[in-house]
Amino acid sequence: MLSLDISQSPNSDDLGYTTRILVVEDEDLIRDMVVLALKEQGYEVVTATNGRAALSLLQTPDSTTTDPIVDLVVLDLMLPQVNGLDICRLLRYQGNTVPILILSAKASETDRVLGLEVGADDYLTKPFSMQELVARCRALLRRQRFTTVPHNQVLQFRDLVLSREECRVLVRGEEANLSPKEFRLLELFMSYPRRVWSREHLIDQVWGADFLGDTKTVDVHIRWLREKLEEDPSKPNYIVTVRGFGYRFG
Ligand code: CA
Repeated sequence: MLSLDISQSPNSDDLGYTTRILVVEDEDLIRDMVVLALKEQGYEVVTATNGRAALSLLQTPDSTTTDPIVDLVVLDLMLPQVNGLDICRLLRYQGNTVPILILSAKASETDRVLGLEVGADDYLTKPFSMQELVARCRALLRRQRFTTVPHNQVLQFRDLVLSREECRVLVRGEEANLSPKEFRLLELFMSYPRRVWSREHLIDQVWGADFLGDTKTVDVHIRWLREKLEEDPSKPNYIVTVRGFGYRFG
């Protein structure tokens, strides 16, 4: 059972790209509520009511476009034909990296861990609020948006050179010794020069949405990074503080 259910008023982003979400759920009531909540946010919604339909939709390559078939999957675990865990496992095995949010009636820690281990990105236990569902979807999509930009293997900005493949950074021709988090932060900054990042946004991108610490962590890492990059860390040229907003690169 597969139906294309496309919102009349898609809330596309600045580039005119509409985000499409696949909802896989066999219980009509829950599916309808989820679809409604997501459509209200302007997302395009596609639905499947069993595992096989979901898989066939996700595995059909669309050669006419380079856009992904869907940008996010909201996936129930207990499904007819193929269950949610097997869908996750299979997609990841096939190299499909679409973000997956699992919906499940199973609340035990083991099920949670299992869901994440087979490649889901997040997990929501029934019953859940539609507000929380929308917030989680948004966080996953935000992360995805920034990890799928075309990748230059080497990023350069003024005296800084960052090699993604080698995980190395050269500062004025000398190798800098960055921790993985510092590297990831710098990579993000260098990918979007002049863009202003809030601390929360940096946490989403670098530490992940389930990070439990607070935003001071960002400030600490920025300080360390400045010490390694800037000629005078007290007067930074690369990572600039934008008061009231966060940080900007360049
Ligand atoms: Ca179910």
